[in-house]
Amino acid sequence: MTEDVGEGPSPVVGRCPTCGKPARHATRPFCSSRCRDVDLSRWLKGHYAVPVVETEADDPDDR
Ligand SMILES: [Zn+2]
Repeated sequence: MTEDVGEGPSPVVGRCPTCGKPARHATRPFCSSRCRDVDLSRWLKGHYAVPVVETEADDPDDR
């Protein structure tokens, strides 16, 4: 198996999950560092938005 896909001037390595443009090898899987930043902040926000319900689920039957 030979996968030589690095002959083009701008090797496409998938699509940017932020804007859908072809991603670049230097900033994959995003098309630019800016899109990467956007996706990262979005991910962090989504992560923080998720309510962590674990403190109240501490076996109420164990009192
Ligand atoms: Zn992008």
